[in-house]
Amino acid sequence: MLIQDYFPTAADLTASGVAQLNLHSRAAQVARAQFGRQVFVRAVVEVSNFCRENCAYCGMRRDNRKLKRFRAHYEELAEHLIHHRPTSVTDVNIQGGEDPIAVREFVLPLIRILRRETALGISVCLGTLSPGLYRELQSAGASIYIIKFEIGDAAQYSKFKAPGTLNERLRHIQLLAENGWFVSSGFIVGLPGQTPRDLVKSLELARTLPLHGCSISPFIPGEDALLADQPPGNPDWTLNCMAALRLMRPDWVIPAVSALNLAEKDGYRRGLRAGANMVTINLTPNDVRGDFLIYKRSRFIMTEERVLAAIAAEGLTPSKQGLADSYRNGARHAPAQTALSVMT
Ligand code: SF4
Repeated sequence: MLIQDYFPTAADLTASGVAQLNLHSRAAQVARAQFGRQVFVRAVVEVSNFCRENCAYCGMRRDNRKLKRFRAHYEELAEHLIHHRPTSVTDVNIQGGEDPIAVREFVLPLIRILRRETALGISVCLGTLSPGLYRELQSAGASIYIIKFEIGDAAQYSKFKAPGTLNERLRHIQLLAENGWFVSSGFIVGLPGQTPRDLVKSLELARTLPLHGCSISPFIPGEDALLADQPPGNPDWTLNCMAALRLMRPDWVIPAVSALNLAEKDGYRRGLRAGANMVTINLTPNDVRGDFLIYKRSRFIMTEERVLAAIAAEGLTPSKQGLADSYRNGARHAPAQTALSVMT
């Protein structure tokens, strides 16, 4: 079977035992054929936990009045990233709640400093903004926009109060791609009531989008989220979706997200074994990390040591080429035919 013909069935997404091992191993082979043993290493800094959205699965939603809100000092972040970042880091992702004030007053100055002082590739994950702000971020020096569609079904998207509407989110993905951004998206696995058929739908949607990457995160019932008392998403289904995505899109960048470790003790390393090819070191200052309430205040922080240990344990190695450079150079890493041959 040619790889571009692959599309997962619901049975693939719920596979266990030998069938699951085979699925993951095929995905890992495709990733290695495409990217070698190289894994992109980026840093993330979380700049603001103010958010004007109200997602039911997130503790930073605007109606959570208990959360102490912060906007980080960009001079401090810049200093840390310029002088003290781990040597393996080639890119930085600047992430925040949907907070246009932080974008204008903190993120833009931070990007300008980083662009002037470093060769870091710059990604941003800042929500649905105006076309004018997208342009300003791009002019300042960011080139990758991370905007997750979260849920591939419009009715569930609305039910879980994801930002705006699914159509609006998709229009923004399109708009960003048309304007020269390298766009990465993502979706959640295991929200209450989601079935394998819903996950197939999210994968169907992902493959129609103009993306360079896509993350898949297990649902974690976060503190102060409306869904705090719900059961977590199934880590096996999450990993199976990652493997399926790798088989569908050999050249996309698929991160091993830190939530995999919350879902399961060995989840992060299993992600690397299921076709992931990017890791993220968290460099958010200690004093505000706990308030960036994606999941829990006592977060499992992916430090340099943990990330590099996971890569090494899987026989992988940090990529010397940065992610933004790789996109800019249109790298396809290895001839697609090599990846195709794995599937025949
Ligand atoms: S998931 Fe993002 S957009 Fe939604 S409430 Fe949380 S920070 Fe805001």
